[in-house]
Amino acid sequence: MRKPLFSRNESFPMRIWIPLIAAATASAAPAVAQTQAELDRFAELSALYQSATIVGEPSVEPCILSQGAQAHCMKITVVAAPSDHITGPYCPLNINDTAEDGGTWFVDGEVRDVDGDFIANLAEIYQDDAWHMFDPETGDIYVRNNEIGCIVAGDPTNETGQPDNICVDCSLGFIGKTVTRTYFIPLSPVPTDGQKGDVHGGIGVALNGVKVEGPAPLELILGEHTLGPFDDCGGHINPSEGYHYHGIQEDCGARADAALSGHAARLGVALDGYDLYDQHDLDGTEPADLDACRGHMTEGLGYHYHVEAAGTNEILPCLTAQTGCSLDDPDASCNASIGGGRPAGPPPRND
Ligand SMILES: [Zn+2]
Ligand SMILES: [Zn+2]
Repeated sequence: MRKPLFSRNESFPMRIWIPLIAAATASAAPAVAQTQAELDRFAELSALYQSATIVGEPSVEPCILSQGAQAHCMKITVVAAPSDHITGPYCPLNINDTAEDGGTWFVDGEVRDVDGDFIANLAEIYQDDAWHMFDPETGDIYVRNNEIGCIVAGDPTNETGQPDNICVDCSLGFIGKTVTRTYFIPLSPVPTDGQKGDVHGGIGVALNGVKVEGPAPLELILGEHTLGPFDDCGGHINPSEGYHYHGIQEDCGARADAALSGHAARLGVALDGYDLYDQHDLDGTEPADLDACRGHMTEGLGYHYHVEAAGTNEILPCLTAQTGCSLDDPDASCNASIGGGRPAGPPPRND
């Protein structure tokens, strides 16, 4: 694994300005007036996201959270690509390629380099002779990249008729449009009643604008003997979500220092309104008092989360408070109680 300097197949302009399309959004009057604390929180968050590629300006909007609570949210629309690091590579092209030519994959809770050797040894790694992702004569790996890679990445049922044993590589430049995501983040978290919040519609948004995603459906992907590798920053791309993280690498993407000496750095905000921090405090240890959702309360920071190790395919197991929305339509309003987190239907194959 290494820090890539350039990316194969990436032709996406990273700095792009899109006209203020969100301004036309009609919104109902807030159910209750915004509190000063909410306005302060909005100002704080708006400033934090200045390193993302923001479309329009963040605003305060009414929102309906996952268990029906009426709340005020920060609405922010961002280009679904990192503003501060390159993306890819994902699939090596030949079994002689090195770790620099490929990305990563999660095996038994660990981050593994997807180099030529990894592809050559898939049958052994998964104890399954049905894996054969390369031409035995040339060593060339069966890769689907460019436009077809993105179609396959967004196809949950493999209806494109692609064979098994392919390495799926979707790059931003081949989606055919600029993907944006619109988030509604509650400005004052509302606790859940009973069951903790599900993370499969997403966990939050990183300070560089990248979606912090729930678990990748590894069983589905592996069941078809395909791979949709992550890059060295733990992210990959599909047409509906754009670039998104399934693992957090502490050296990738914007961070903000915590307002508490020695504490882990802040990397983003969760969909329930609580902040996301790196796994480790600055002394390299993980806080010992994390709850089931990996949250805890500290002086000065209030309640917040520490993400799980990259490779576990579980950035957070659950969310403590009711979630807002992550939407692909910048003009939509947020009603998370009717499944506002994602459209109906199965997740993208490469989710
Ligand atoms: Zn903490
Ligand atoms: Zn994914």
